[in-house]
Amino acid sequence: MAVRAAVEQGLVTGDREPIAALLDVRAIREAAGALRAAFDAVSGPGQDVLHTFAVKAASLVPVLRLLADEGIGCEVASPGELALARAAGVPAAATVLDSPAKTPGELREALLLGIALNADNRSELARLDELVRPGDPATPPLGLRVNPQIGGGSIDAMSTATATSKFGVALADPGAREEVVRAYRDRPWLTRLHSHVGSQGMPLELMAEGARATYELAEEINAAAGRRQVDTLDLGGGLPVNFGSDAITPTFEQYARLLAETVPGLFDGSYGLVTEFGRSLLAKAGTILARVEYAKSAGGRSIAVTHAGAQIAVRTVFTPDAWPLRVAAYDAKGGSKGGADGTGGTGGTGAGGEAGTGEASGAGLVEQDIAGPCCFAGDLVARGRLMPRLDEGDYAALLDTGAYYFSNPFGYNSLPRPGVYGFTVTDGGEVRFVTVRDPQTLAEIVGDSGGAHRDALRER
Ligand SMILES: *Cc1c(COP(=O)(O)O)cnc(C)c1O
Repeated sequence: MAVRAAVEQGLVTGDREPIAALLDVRAIREAAGALRAAFDAVSGPGQDVLHTFAVKAASLVPVLRLLADEGIGCEVASPGELALARAAGVPAAATVLDSPAKTPGELREALLLGIALNADNRSELARLDELVRPGDPATPPLGLRVNPQIGGGSIDAMSTATATSKFGVALADPGAREEVVRAYRDRPWLTRLHSHVGSQGMPLELMAEGARATYELAEEINAAAGRRQVDTLDLGGGLPVNFGSDAITPTFEQYARLLAETVPGLFDGSYGLVTEFGRSLLAKAGTILARVEYAKSAGGRSIAVTHAGAQIAVRTVFTPDAWPLRVAAYDAKGGSKGGADGTGGTGGTGAGGEAGTGEASGAGLVEQDIAGPCCFAGDLVARGRLMPRLDEGDYAALLDTGAYYFSNPFGYNSLPRPGVYGFTVTDGGEVRFVTVRDPQTLAEIVGDSGGAHRDALRER
C-alpha cells in the first residue's frame, strides 16, 4: 500500500529520484512500545530503566525525535551522533556516550553537558582522572565498559565479546578482573558498569550470559567497596532481527523474560538499568524502493539493474551471506508482483507479507540477480534469487532496511543519498508521507567533494 502510494505521489518517479527510502511511523512506535512493555513487565517497582537508541542504526534527527516522544533516549558514539541527539532535543540525562576512541575534547564536552559516558579502557580512565572533580554534583554518571569474553555469534564483525574484541576491558585476561575492582575502589565517581556483547547473529542465551557476567562483576565491585557504588548496569543492546520474513522474532518480550530468568537480580530493584537497542527498533520499519532502469540477461542469468546497490546496502553487497535481504517486486504503478518470500536462492517459503499476496507468487518466477547502479561487478543486492521477473520501469523493494541501510550510505560513484520519507496511514486508508531527509542534491555532492577548493592543488 505504501509502495503504491509512493509511486502515485511521485516519490520515486522522474529522472532525479529513482530511489527513495520509506519509514513506517507506526511500526517504529510499535517497536518502541514493545520494548518499554517488555521491560516494564519484568522490572521491580520504581526501578529506573532508561532505554536508549543506538544512533548509528538510523542517524536521522526526526527518527531520534520520534523515539524521544516514545520515551527512548540516545546512545551516541561520536561528536556527530551527539550533535544529532542534541538537534533532536534529546535531554542530556537520556543520552549515553560510548565509543572506543573518545578524544580528550569529547570527554570534556560530555562532562560539561552532563552526558553519561562509559570509558572503554584503562587509558581513558586515566584521562577522566584529570577531568573529573570528585564530589561535583554536576558530574554525570560515569561507567566502564567491560568485555566478559563470553564468545561470538555467527557474524564475526558483529561479535563484541570475543577474547580479542577491540571493545572494553577484557575481563578474563590475567589480572584484569582484580584491576577493574581496584579501579572502582580508587574512583568513587564510577557508578555504572557497561557491556555490549553483540548484535546480529548472537544467540539470546549468550547475550543473557553477558548480562549475568556484568551483574556478577557489579556485585563483586560493590562487595569490595562495602557500599552500592555501582548503581546502574548498562546492558548494551543488540537484539537480532529476522530478515527472512515479516515475523518479528525474537521479541523484546522474549529477551526481557530470558534476562529475568537468567539474572533475577537485574530486576530486584537494586540496580537502575540502561539498554541500547538499535537495529531491532528500526529495521522492520524501513523499505528501500528503487526503480528498475533496465532488465537484461547475461550468460543465461536474468539481471534487473536497479538504483539500489552498495551506496545504500553496503553490508548486503559486501558480505551477502551475513546480510541477505528480501526483495519484493512491484510493477510500474506500484502494484505487487510478489517475491518477498525469503532470502534464499530458491525462493524460500511462507507468504511474504504485503508483497507476497500478488497473483504472480508461485507462477512465472525466474532466477534473477538484483543489481545496483555502482560500477563494480559485485554490486548485487540479491544473487540468483527466484522471484517474479522485474521489467524495465518496475520497482524493487528492499525490505527490513530501516536500520543500517539508507541511514548509513556509502559515497561510491558520487551517488546521492536518497530521500527518506516517513509515512502514516489515515483511518480512511490514505497514505501520507512527510520528508525525513531530502535527497542529496548534485550541488551538495560537489560541495562534499571539495568543490570549494577547485584550484587548491594548482596553487603554489
Ligand atoms: C551498535 C551498538 C548497539 C546497538 O546494536 P544493535 O545491534 O543495532 O541493536 C548498542 N550498544 C553499543 C555500544 C553499540 O556499539
